[in-house]
Amino acid sequence: MSNMTRDFFIGLSNNQLLNSQAKKWGFVLGADKFVAGTTIPSVMETVKNLNAKGISCTLDNLGEFVASRAEAEQAKDKIITLLETIHQENVACHLSVKLTQLGLDIDQDFCMANVREILAKAKEYAIFVNIDMEDYVHYEATMAALKTLHKDYDNVGTVVQSYLLQAGDDLSDLKGIRVRIVKGAYKESADVAYQEQAAIDRNFIKLAEERLLEGTFTSIGTHDHHIINELKTFIQEQGIPNDQFEFQMLYGFRNDLQQKLANEGYHFCTYIPFGDDWFGYFMRRLAERPQNVNIILKDALYTEDNKLKKGPVIGGAAAVSALLIWRFRSKRGKKA
Ligand SMILES: Cc1cc2nc3c(=O)[nH]c(=O)nc-3n(C[C@H](O)[C@H](O)[C@H](O)COP(=O)(O)OP(=O)(O)OC[C@H]3O[C@@H](n4cnc5c(N)ncnc54)[C@H](O)[C@@H]3O)c2cc1C
Repeated sequence: MSNMTRDFFIGLSNNQLLNSQAKKWGFVLGADKFVAGTTIPSVMETVKNLNAKGISCTLDNLGEFVASRAEAEQAKDKIITLLETIHQENVACHLSVKLTQLGLDIDQDFCMANVREILAKAKEYAIFVNIDMEDYVHYEATMAALKTLHKDYDNVGTVVQSYLLQAGDDLSDLKGIRVRIVKGAYKESADVAYQEQAAIDRNFIKLAEERLLEGTFTSIGTHDHHIINELKTFIQEQGIPNDQFEFQMLYGFRNDLQQKLANEGYHFCTYIPFGDDWFGYFMRRLAERPQNVNIILKDALYTEDNKLKKGPVIGGAAAVSALLIWRFRSKRGKKA
């Protein structure tokens, strides 16, 4: 995908008005392909179905632009209810949380208190909690929080993004802490991040190989079969035991490959986002892959028997217009 179109969707993901409107629309534009329902009971059904296929899960209670203490506390309470449900239902499932949802932009101490409450409850139930990595603005604060929290809780880990120039150094600092390696989903400047796909991919493999040799449990978070195949060969050659790592992919992406890896005997974990605050997450996924846009556009405009959909008028129209503008711009881009 060209940088211009990627930027366009990243721009939409950061649009607060569209994010807040989308909560009222419910799922439109085929968002339900990538977001597993809005409620805890509905997402639990998805978890149980995947567990039955030999796949574990990590749940992400979606939430963008949390601006008040009340919203952050509401998110924390929902995550604690989620932990209780995971425990009661005895499913193979851990949590992924974002510090901004728990108040990082409001007050760091308040945020830390919320995370500590979550980690204490999770520890009681022996559930792992991953702190997702957000954009670079929040990077230092997230890493600092992780290191402080890990002194008291061994059930917490985080994410290292291979597009960051400093990823290698930071990963070395995280020896003994569980980490997920990903490429990175946000738009970052050349001052802090590689801009070329080949450099990001090379760094991903380098980081993953270092971690696999180092021995702390590592999640390999990618849909990229080139990287997966290269790492599978490395794992075999080096005799890395299967219980030292897992592959992770996002819900709704490459379902066949997810199942294939699980069937081959690898630990596999599906990252499942849920909740009504789906817009930003969904736009970041469109930014990553043009094919997603084609699927979604067809899904948004037509019913299964090829009739034009009526749908939620304002939300549908806004989002479809956004996609149509993107199509127009990308066609112009191809000609230029
Ligand atoms: C489990 C998980 C958790 C994540 N957590 C974070 C996080 O905390 N912070 C963060 O910044 N980012 C996170 N991300 C997003 C990540 O940073 C990337 O933006 C995203 O995964 C896209 O990169 P990729 O490695 O999947 O492959 P891409 O670079 O998107 O694709 C590389 C190649 O793989 C193949 N491919 C990819 N997708 C498909 C497909 N659907 N069908 C067929 N072929 C395909 C194609 O050949 C493509 O050219 C996470 C991703 C995953 C999977």
